[in-house]
Amino acid sequence: MTAKIIDGKAISAAVKEQVRAEIERDKIKAGLAVVIVGDDPASRVYVNNKKKACELCGIQSFEYALPAETTEEQLLELVDTLNADNKVNGILVQLPLPKHLDEKKVIERISPIKDVDAFHETNVGKIMIGNYAFLPCTPAGCMELIHSTGVEVAGKECVVIGRSNIVGKPMAMLLLHENGTVTICHSKTRDLPEVCRRADILIAAVGKPNFVTADMVKPGAVVIDVGINRLENGKLCGDVKFDEVSEKAGFITPVPGGVGPMTIAMLMRNTVTAAKIQAK
Ligand code: NAD
Repeated sequence: MTAKIIDGKAISAAVKEQVRAEIERDKIKAGLAVVIVGDDPASRVYVNNKKKACELCGIQSFEYALPAETTEEQLLELVDTLNADNKVNGILVQLPLPKHLDEKKVIERISPIKDVDAFHETNVGKIMIGNYAFLPCTPAGCMELIHSTGVEVAGKECVVIGRSNIVGKPMAMLLLHENGTVTICHSKTRDLPEVCRRADILIAAVGKPNFVTADMVKPGAVVIDVGINRLENGKLCGDVKFDEVSEKAGFITPVPGGVGPMTIAMLMRNTVTAAKIQAK
């Protein structure tokens, strides 16, 4: 069997076009502030991509590039200013932050209705009980990719490898909301290959290149690769050993061109949602 490739680029382009059309039709004014501290090259690329997506969708983007030595007080002050700014509907602080800054404290300072990453504990709690305005961008993007396959989540065995607050845990919750039977695996899971082989839908969010091999995959499974790893030769690769797994899975996302572009598209959607809520 050769897997169908899930085209994250095309699906994300369609989501961004929906957002653009909605903004134009309903004359929505939406603004997104992106804050980057320091000069991590990967973060710089993500921030540039977010800016480009804003331009495409007709969302005003405000960028704040702060030096690495920015103090916590200065960063919190900026967040307060953005919370109070009516032109700013969404605030995103690019992670990771330099070590001397407390990420949790900074995220908690963002007003929950402007927290378009959905990392604030208020939004995390809302997701837990299924009463939410925004979904965290990466897991929400993964759900869109799964929907694009036509495979129903309800009743399926879903295995998520990784339990981080930004990917693994919310991913599991979204699958559960759609009535999947969900298992979350992590570094202490016993016999991981055996657990993974049960999965009709397998999500890899580990951060280790080529971690998921064909022997861990059920024939015909939907495989979503969240990992973004940079190899020594500079190339990007996911957590899934694409060549061999694509011979066995039913559907698979490539890296790049899978989950990555979806994350940005969902951020655009969240920013419009935030603008609509704040306009009320
Ligand atoms: P993280 O380091 O916070 O979490 C990794 C998880 O993997 C942990 O929960 C850990 O328990 C688990 N893990 C580690 N070793 C394991 C093992 N041997 N067996 C089973 N589980 C193991 O990472 P994260 O922030 O969740 O990100 C995961 C990956 O996704 C990274 O490559 C990151 O770059 C990528 N990512 C991509 C996007 C995107 O837009 N595509 C967004 C966020 C993160």
